[in-house]
Amino acid sequence: MYNLYDFSLEKLEKLLMEKYGQKKYRATQLFIWIYEKRVRDFDLMSDISASFREVLKRDFVLELPEIETKQVSLDGTIKLLLKMKDGVKVETVLMRYDYGNSVCVSSQVGCNMGCSFCASGLLLKNRDLTPSELIGQLLVMESLMEGEKISHVVVMGSGEPFDNYENVMDFIRIVNHHKGFNIGARHITVSTCGIPHKIVKFANEGLQVNLAISLHAPNDELRSKLMKINKVYPLKVLMAAVKDYERITNRRVTYEYIMLKGVNDTNEHAKQLANLIKGTLNFVNLIPYNSVDEHGYKRSERVVVREFADSLKKLGVNVTIRKEFGPDIDAACGQLRAKKEGAL
Ligand code: SAH
Repeated sequence: MYNLYDFSLEKLEKLLMEKYGQKKYRATQLFIWIYEKRVRDFDLMSDISASFREVLKRDFVLELPEIETKQVSLDGTIKLLLKMKDGVKVETVLMRYDYGNSVCVSSQVGCNMGCSFCASGLLLKNRDLTPSELIGQLLVMESLMEGEKISHVVVMGSGEPFDNYENVMDFIRIVNHHKGFNIGARHITVSTCGIPHKIVKFANEGLQVNLAISLHAPNDELRSKLMKINKVYPLKVLMAAVKDYERITNRRVTYEYIMLKGVNDTNEHAKQLANLIKGTLNFVNLIPYNSVDEHGYKRSERVVVREFADSLKKLGVNVTIRKEFGPDIDAACGQLRAKKEGAL
């Protein structure tokens, strides 16, 4: 059995032509039914012949994740814990900005990157998510939005998207395709802990999708303490990949920087950070830390975050402070799942 939500248009065309002897446009017709019209019943697909509908019913399903838990915040944020067919659970969050509805999807079940401040890594990677499980997160969330549409997608939930590269790319192609989910590339963002060769590969995909890089520290000593990945790919290698990315795409990356009290939030760190990213088309997003009790880090005081931002500005860095959502629900990455699985 195939799940129809697993296929990019190209891959569906190939399968339907090669295995089923169908014309190429059959794939586009199906895309229109399942994404543009959001139809999940093969019998309703009126421009597909009755005989091929029978084949579809025999070999294909249109399966979505189940809702295990739903939390709704006073600010309209929705956080879902979704259960996949084999029972694994992942989190998906809807954030309502004034510019639109942004959904944060998870790319893996758990994570192996081992960042010392993050709840997702409390449970090691169980497995990668498939394209249908990524798309499923959007479709299930949208079914709760009372007719409102998702306008932005961020691959910033649990997991490392570049450790599940092919599935995440198929997902992005479906989300971006005008006959698919039809969200503009500039409204899609992928966040990585910084895997240099994948950053360059991503740059060469020819997509206008935004890239965010979790930097979190301005020098190797500190970054290696916070993020295991830095021991494999130190800042020099990472920054070289960022420069390649800029050269290939002509686009800037966003540097994400979690503000951890007394760890990476001093004026000296701001100077080092400005220095590190000097010469790239810089844009820094400062992230208020959601405390994960097990890890012992505390969030920087609000005024410290503001001072840090001001120092960066004075040093010529473009900087914003990330808006927070759902303070009354388990907002931090991986917290809801970790709690449910007994790791928190
Ligand atoms: N693996 C990818 C994407 C998932 S994490 C990455 O590393 O970018 C998405 C972002 O949330 C990263 O910048 C991550 O460092 C940050 N993050 C993780 N735990 C957090 C927490 N408790 N509070 C705030 N941000 C957190």
